[in-house]
Amino acid sequence: MTEIPLHPAALPAAPSRIALLDMTLPEMEAFVRALGLPAYRARQIYDWIYKRFAADFAEMSDLPLALRTQLQAAAIIDPLRVATQVVSSAGDTLKVLFSLPDGQSIEAVLMLYDNRRTLCISSQAGCAMGCTFCATAQGGLARNLTSGEIIAQVLYFARYLANPAALPPTEVARPATVSNIVLMGMGEPLHNYSNVWAALRRLTDANAFGLGARHITLSTVGLVPQIDKMAAEDLQIGLAVSLHAPNDTLRTGLVPINRGYPVNELLDAVRRYIEQTHRRVTFEYALMRGINDTPALAEELAGKLRGLLCHVNLIPLNPIPDSPYQPSTSYDAENFASILREAGISTTIRLRRGIEINAGCGQLRRASKIST
Ligand code: SF4
Repeated sequence: MTEIPLHPAALPAAPSRIALLDMTLPEMEAFVRALGLPAYRARQIYDWIYKRFAADFAEMSDLPLALRTQLQAAAIIDPLRVATQVVSSAGDTLKVLFSLPDGQSIEAVLMLYDNRRTLCISSQAGCAMGCTFCATAQGGLARNLTSGEIIAQVLYFARYLANPAALPPTEVARPATVSNIVLMGMGEPLHNYSNVWAALRRLTDANAFGLGARHITLSTVGLVPQIDKMAAEDLQIGLAVSLHAPNDTLRTGLVPINRGYPVNELLDAVRRYIEQTHRRVTFEYALMRGINDTPALAEELAGKLRGLLCHVNLIPLNPIPDSPYQPSTSYDAENFASILREAGISTTIRLRRGIEINAGCGQLRRASKIST
């Protein structure tokens, strides 16, 4: 693990100034008009932020200096400050702990693959869902992130990928920008529905960040009403459901929200989602040694998922220090996967990235709290 210098974009946030990343283009037009400026200035600012990844008004060279000074006094682009930034020794995984203006902190992780640059971002500071194996759950929910704070994580890494001078040495070829986003970091995205969807609209808007909706996956622990709501959205964002167990007895012990939305109700919601969207759903299943990785549970899971348009991602758990939950052995993981595959269920064992840099959700934040 190598700690690397802070990126120059890590500017201190100033909460008294208005947050431009929270604005749609029409809202930004209204903002510039209120400053006594023509509406086309909003489009220029929008392009600088979303197409050229400017983090500072000083970079906006085609705006008059007086206007840049006026904007600097009235508004802020990047609400995030880098608290800690670590890169794996292979150089293929970068994790950043960001501080928010009110002192909260969130994490995001960039993973470089041969043909994709996948970014895992947070939707809340902390989380209210209380999953017993999760580091984020231990502090509870502090607050929802704004849409701008969600977008700022993406722009930070877009800036990072666009600036080779800021990068640590690595043998991995550097792609130009973020190609995939997963909302799988801290928080339950469907518990912060409106801000998350406002962020998704700007991240997919061709006038803003412009990433294809199919390149974005939202991962939920299973809030049934919000899954139904998501099924009716016009954006083709992928859905992943963190299942982790095939029955209520086991799942409620791992994922307490299961008391409100038991396994069969959740699977019914997934069925409705597939019927409405015709899209394949991914089930995430964190494999924990001796807890949820037995052949009998694999058979039970296969029985529940048979016939569903789905894929199962088995993820050997990222271990938390002092936790009773430990990752399954590779033998047990392979065995679990073969039982699902023999039942005709598409299954992969996900490559676990960044274990040396606390890349499991909430782990860097927890480590930083322990060490301060
Ligand atoms: S696993 Fe996800 S939903 Fe569960 S507590 Fe952690 S962050 Fe929240």
